[in-house]
Amino acid sequence: MRKKIITGNWKMNADKNEAVSLVNGLLEKYGELNLSENKIVVIAPPFPYIHYISSVFIKHPYFFAGAQNCSEYEKGAYTGEVSAKIIASLDVKYVIIGHSERRQYFRETDEILLQKIYRAQKEKLIPIFCCGESLESREAGDHFTFIKKQLDDCVFHLTEEEFGNIVIAYEPIWAIGTGKTASPEQAQEVHQFIRQQIKEKYSESTAEQTTILYGGSVTAKNASELFAEKDIDGGLVGGASLKADEFAAIIKA
Ligand code: PEP
Repeated sequence: MRKKIITGNWKMNADKNEAVSLVNGLLEKYGELNLSENKIVVIAPPFPYIHYISSVFIKHPYFFAGAQNCSEYEKGAYTGEVSAKIIASLDVKYVIIGHSERRQYFRETDEILLQKIYRAQKEKLIPIFCCGESLESREAGDHFTFIKKQLDDCVFHLTEEEFGNIVIAYEPIWAIGTGKTASPEQAQEVHQFIRQQIKEKYSESTAEQTTILYGGSVTAKNASELFAEKDIDGGLVGGASLKADEFAAIIKA
């Protein structure tokens, strides 16, 4: 059975007090969330709160801390960067790699992202690799080619064993932070396509075991119909992860 995961990506939001009350709000609801080994939650806060969160989560076995990024370098004179090794030493288990905002604003290419994945895996972090088409690509009807290229140029360089330790997040760029969600049918079509590509590249069993998340304006209102689709194994949630009640409702969905 593949893992179901809801990941909250706080991006560059929440001051310290807001971070603490958001975490407390989620912890209060922990017992209602029906989590298990195969149904988990990852919270990816800004770096300064990551150790606080990972240490609070130690008593909550199905809540995990995640990083929003890691450096492609191992260590040394890279002012402002945070290495995979530092992140892993803080009891963090997941790292988001290749979010479209990193690709767009920080010019991260698939080549750089692959280096980040190697660094993360060396430290036993699980990368959540984001892919997804632009609005132009969707309107031109070439979104499958767009996504296939992102996979070919990055994660499909991994061996089957390495690929077995990543999570994929399909995030159409036109749906991120815009309030425009992909319809369940649109999202399912792409998730099925990604799973088929994994099958062709590696094997049916790897394809069946890979967790593929949907991200792009997920809310408490649209979560259950998205998550009811057979190839959607959870969500990567931005804006709605900043409200404890709404995020808890998404987890329940
Ligand atoms: C995201 O940050 O990955 C995201 C999907 O954001 P939002 O849910 O706000 O669209």
